[in-house]
Amino acid sequence: MGIKGFQGTSLLDYPGRIASLVFWGGCNLTCPFCHNPVLVLEPDTCPDLDPAELLADLAERRSFIDGVVVSGGEPTMNSGLLPFLKQVKALGLAVKLDTNGLAPQIIAELLAGQLIDYLAIDLKTIPARYPELHTGAVFVDKLVETVRLCAGAAVELEYRTTCVPGWVDENVIAELGELIQGSPLWALQQYHSEHALCERARAQAPYSDEQVRAFAEIAGNHVKRVIVRGCR
Ligand code: SF4
Repeated sequence: MGIKGFQGTSLLDYPGRIASLVFWGGCNLTCPFCHNPVLVLEPDTCPDLDPAELLADLAERRSFIDGVVVSGGEPTMNSGLLPFLKQVKALGLAVKLDTNGLAPQIIAELLAGQLIDYLAIDLKTIPARYPELHTGAVFVDKLVETVRLCAGAAVELEYRTTCVPGWVDENVIAELGELIQGSPLWALQQYHSEHALCERARAQAPYSDEQVRAFAEIAGNHVKRVIVRGCR
């Protein structure tokens, strides 16, 4: 089975490490502010990467990369993820997974198999508003299940929230903070609207950097460490 997506190399997406990036097409949400709309809305137009060729390419890069970032779209939707990561780990590479956290059963399998080293879970807004992020059903209990599953898991864990006006404010940060209370790291990200999935989201002005930093102050009451990304 091919991987519909893209590949690249970056230092930024796997903190402190040089990593190859693999973006998987398809998602179980259609967030209006999504910055990868092609992967979400038109995955079939993405290149069809042959896993065997991709793995051969990663094996060649092994001397200068530390790991692989698996992102999307939503990689946990693809049944090829687990076997692919088994082979990536067999190459001796670290794995960072970016996920929206709505597939706890897959994340549990990946953790049990020690197939991920770094887990970055998006928190878009308060759980009660997740149904607004998709035209189909959203099983938001799954997100809460993932948070519980990951508490104390043997993996580097990062929660991250893009501070999109209309979806994130002081109350949202406080409620999400309660949800992930005591977690090691929460990254708050400035919103960049230019590639957003919906026109309205593209027209949405971001918060000021000062406001994002004020959110970080609130977040700091709940988790061990907060970082801010995308602010000057
Ligand atoms: S922001 Fe993430 S979860 Fe939302 S539609 Fe885009 S890829 Fe999917």
